[in-house]
Amino acid sequence: MEKSAYAELKGQLLSTKKNGYDVLSSGEQGAMEDYCAGYKAFLDAGKTERLCAAEVIRLAEAGGYRPYMPGMAVKPGDKIYARNRGKSVMLAHIGQKLLSEGVQLAAAHIDSPRLDLKPNPLYEDSELAYFKTHYYGGIRKYQWVTIPLALHGVVILKDGTKVTVRIGEDEGEPRLVITDLLPHLGAAQNKKPLAEAIPGETLNLLLGSRPIGGEEESGRVKLAVMKLLHEKYGIVEDDLSSAELEAVPAVKACDIGLDRSMIGAYGHDDRVCAYAALKALLDLTETPVKTAVCILADKEEIGSYGVTGMQSAAFDTFMEDLCAAQDVTLRSCFAKSFCLSADVTAAYDPNYPDVFEKRNESQLNYGVGLCKYTGARGKSGASDADAETVAYVRRLFDKAGVIWQISELGKVDAGGGGTVAMYMANRNINTLDAGVPVLSMHAPFETVSKLDCYETYKGMKAVFQAEE
Ligand code: MN
Ligand code: MN
Repeated sequence: MEKSAYAELKGQLLSTKKNGYDVLSSGEQGAMEDYCAGYKAFLDAGKTERLCAAEVIRLAEAGGYRPYMPGMAVKPGDKIYARNRGKSVMLAHIGQKLLSEGVQLAAAHIDSPRLDLKPNPLYEDSELAYFKTHYYGGIRKYQWVTIPLALHGVVILKDGTKVTVRIGEDEGEPRLVITDLLPHLGAAQNKKPLAEAIPGETLNLLLGSRPIGGEEESGRVKLAVMKLLHEKYGIVEDDLSSAELEAVPAVKACDIGLDRSMIGAYGHDDRVCAYAALKALLDLTETPVKTAVCILADKEEIGSYGVTGMQSAAFDTFMEDLCAAQDVTLRSCFAKSFCLSADVTAAYDPNYPDVFEKRNESQLNYGVGLCKYTGARGKSGASDADAETVAYVRRLFDKAGVIWQISELGKVDAGGGGTVAMYMANRNINTLDAGVPVLSMHAPFETVSKLDCYETYKGMKAVFQAEE
C-alpha cells in the first residue's frame, strides 16, 4: 500500500483524538484564561452550597435575571431564577419555542464534601476545646487532618434570627485544624489500612487552648471559646443545635504547574460544572430557540435526597409553574427535553495506573468528558444514556467545535460513582453525563485543567443554543 493511501485510510477510519492544545487556537487560549479567572473568583466566593447559591444569584442578577414568582407571565427572552431555600438555584432563559417543544437543561451540583458540625459539637478535653464533626459526602479522612480549615454556615437563634458565621477565610484571621499523630508515635497507626487509620470520631476541630476564670474551675477553655463566639455572633451553646456549620479547607483557588495550565482548589466537584453551566447561560446573547434551564442542586454528594436535592419536587414545581404560564403540561415538556447532567469525572492519574483502564478514561486537556453511564459493578445505579442521546451530544459538540472525550470512571469493578443523571432520566428526560475530569477528586484540594474547564463551558453553551 502507498504511504499516502495508508495515511488517508487511517485518517478516514481511525479515531484521531488529540490533546486539546493541538486544536485550540491562540485566540481561544486567551478566552480560556479569562474564563478561568472568573471561575477561580467564583470558587473563592462560594465554598459552601449556601455561599455558592448566593454568588450564583448575584451573578445572575447582574446578568439581567430576576426572581420568578409562580403565576408570573413569561415570554421569549425573559430571564428568571428561583432559589430553593438558599441552597439551590434554578434559572431559565425563555426560548422562542413553547415549552411543549422541550427545554435544554444543564444540571450540576454546588455541594461538596466537607466536615459538618454535630448538633452538640462543643466540648473540652485535657484543657483544649473542640468541635465534633460528622463528615458529609465521600471523603478520605486522612486527607483532612493537619490542614488549615475555615468554618462557614448559619446559626438560627431561638427567635428565628439568622446569624451568618465565617471564620478563618480572610487574611489575618485564625484558622482551625484537626491534629494527627506524630510519626514517632505512629507505628501502630501506620499499620492500619488507610480507611481505618483516621476514625471519623477523631475528626475534631481544635478551637482553643487558653482558659479563663480561676484555676479551681473546670471547662474553662470551652467557656472561653463560647465567650468569643458569643461576642462575635451573639450565640449561646444551645443555639448550635439549630446551626448548619461546615468546615472547609482554608485555601484559595490558584494556578497549578509551572505553565499555569491547571487550577487547584477546594470544591471543583461540582462547582466547575456549575460555573460552566451558569456562565454559558449568562453569556447567551440571543434568545435561545428552546428554553434554556440551569439547575444547580444541593445534596448530590449524599444521594440527592432532601428538599434541596435533585430528587426534590422543587424542580418539578418550578418547571410546572413555567409550563402553566404557557398552557403546557409538565409531562409533555419533559418528554421532549434534554438534560446534560453536568458533573465531574475522574481524570487518568499516571501515579495510579492500576485502577484505570487507559483506553476508557478521561485525560487532562482532552476536553469535556462524556460518560454514557456511571454506576458500579454491572452499571448498577447508572442512568445509561442511549446511543441516540450520545450521538445527539456528539453532533452538537462537533458542530460547535467543542473538544470532548468519552470515558468511564475507572476499571470495571474497581469502584464507581453516581450523579444526578438518573433523577433527571427518571423524569422522562433524555440525559447524558458530561463534565470536567478531576485529579484527586473529593480531596480538600482538587486539580483540573483550564482547557477542560473552558471546553465544558463551550459544551454547555452548545446545549443551550441547540435548535434540534
Ligand atoms: Mn459531583
Ligand atoms: Mn462528588
